[in-house]
Amino acid sequence: MSQTRTGLYPGTFDPLTNGHLDIISRATKLLDRLVIAVAINPGKGPAFTLEERVAMVEAEMAKLTGGATIEVMPFRGLLVDFAAEVGANIMVRGLRAVVDYEYEFQLYGMNSKLNPDVESVFLMADARYQSISSSLVKEIAMFGGDISQFVPEDIAVATTQRMADRMAK
Ligand code: ADP
Repeated sequence: MSQTRTGLYPGTFDPLTNGHLDIISRATKLLDRLVIAVAINPGKGPAFTLEERVAMVEAEMAKLTGGATIEVMPFRGLLVDFAAEVGANIMVRGLRAVVDYEYEFQLYGMNSKLNPDVESVFLMADARYQSISSSLVKEIAMFGGDISQFVPEDIAVATTQRMADRMAK
């Protein structure tokens, strides 16, 4: 009997970018079910609340067609525990430059010790998206730059507004 392939794609998604979307659409081709885990991550001082980020990811997922079942969930605890909770056996991560590699390698090492039943799968960032990061998107928006080529349309509007509000404070 073949096991259902359930992937867990964790991230802060502050905000969701075209790079994240590309990883999601590619991962769904390899999986039966993908759980997108939106991390609370207070340490990163997110521009959007956890609820806002979950709603933004959900809205974009509603636009996708076909492929695996996608669920979006907030998560606050330990990643490997959450993987067990949602029945995920595959951790999906995206790799951009060498700087991602070191952190991801370490994360993989620790996660695999905490739960050897969860295998990690790393998808290389597509050349079109490898320079995109949520933090740079926010920085560009903060200074009034055009972020429409880096994030989905509704997210570009929301991020531009949020960063302008922050600058005005
Ligand atoms: P985290 O707080 O875990 O870094 P992010 O939301 O920044 O959360 O990223 C979530 C995952 O998506 C990570 O595996 C990250 O490497 C990957 N990722 C981020 N941006 C891109 C991109 N432009 N292309 C491919 N993968 C990406």
